[in-house]
Amino acid sequence: MSIEKNIDISFILNHLGEERSNYFDAISPPIIQSSNFHLKDIPTMRSAFSNEMKTHLYTRGNNPTVEILRKKLAALEHAEDALVFGSGIAAVAATFMNVLKSGDHVICVESPYSWAYFLLQSYLPNYNITTTFVDGKSTEAIENAILPNTKLLYLESPNTLVLELQDLEECAKIAKKYGLITAIDNSYCSPIYQRPLDFGIDIVMHSVTKYLNGHSDVLAGAICSTKAIIKSIFENEFMAFGGIISPNDAALVIRGLRTLPIRLDRSSQSTHKIVNWLSKHPKVRKIYYPFHPLNPQYELAKKQMTGSGGLFSVEFECDDLEKMEQFVHALRYFLIAVSWGGHESLMIPTCGFYNIPNKENPKLPLSFIRFYVGLEDPEILIKDIENALKLI
Ligand SMILES: *Cc1c(COP(=O)(O)O)cnc(C)c1O
Repeated sequence: MSIEKNIDISFILNHLGEERSNYFDAISPPIIQSSNFHLKDIPTMRSAFSNEMKTHLYTRGNNPTVEILRKKLAALEHAEDALVFGSGIAAVAATFMNVLKSGDHVICVESPYSWAYFLLQSYLPNYNITTTFVDGKSTEAIENAILPNTKLLYLESPNTLVLELQDLEECAKIAKKYGLITAIDNSYCSPIYQRPLDFGIDIVMHSVTKYLNGHSDVLAGAICSTKAIIKSIFENEFMAFGGIISPNDAALVIRGLRTLPIRLDRSSQSTHKIVNWLSKHPKVRKIYYPFHPLNPQYELAKKQMTGSGGLFSVEFECDDLEKMEQFVHALRYFLIAVSWGGHESLMIPTCGFYNIPNKENPKLPLSFIRFYVGLEDPEILIKDIENALKLI
């Protein structure tokens, strides 16, 4: 797998990695639902054990259906190679465990994905690995946080709650200067709207559960990077922790990928419309969305992203918990749910985190809602919000 940056996206999604003559010229790849593979003689056995990542020996290492997906994801990210995991957080955890050793220090942006935060804040200190969380909007703050034992700069741009960006090119430059490894969670943009490796970032991770699969029916994750880094992760965390995707789920993701650009464009265009409409509404206090001219990071967003996904957050003009609850319950198209990236519109209303027994109320205001815009008709979604807004 070499990096071919000029390979067009339609070829990647429709054909790359699919050697149809190996399976009756079937258009759709078979699901090789086999845990292991017959090694027909001793030379085959020697060859399989000499390079488990490339041959077929055991499905925890390499499975032919999963391999097709690996090739497509690597090509989409302009990476030399990729590994696919059973969840996004399995990919993030494998990256941390591979890059970090006892005594190392991490710099991470504020408000990363919640379980990445948990790993860095609560879990990795058990292994004598510490993290400083910094305002990722400021490259100065990042540089100032570097310690002699800093090993990893962990980014998420934009993040998926308050949609803050980091300047990827500047971050890569700083990291090179101090000899740090850079890793980014690129789930929000997908490789269609942002390719961090092109800006000099070392490792890209995805929650494939979100846009890449896109149908709310599979959990999966991916790491895309150089051959050397992927080989190291394969030989260590991938084989030893076993957080793999099943061949069946890999086939579903391959199917989901076929429509990635059109799903993303629809979600993105609808989001533009809804955000524009909301930004003029008197009951809206603040909007968090990278591609809005009022966003202070708008120029940076345009520089490093070719589009903006379907996540955005809103603070409404309302400080009354009951009224917010009524607003949320009045929305018919936005389902209350975590996750995002599927066909259906969703929301996480902060008011639902208030008054949970034995838990502190969140720092975010009760009128804060994170929305995800799916594939429904945007005019219908706007009407849905318009109706519900009459209640606050
Ligand atoms: C969902 C999500 C993850 C975790 O992915 P899973 O597939 O749920 O394990 C990581 N990062 C971001 C930005 C996410 O939205």
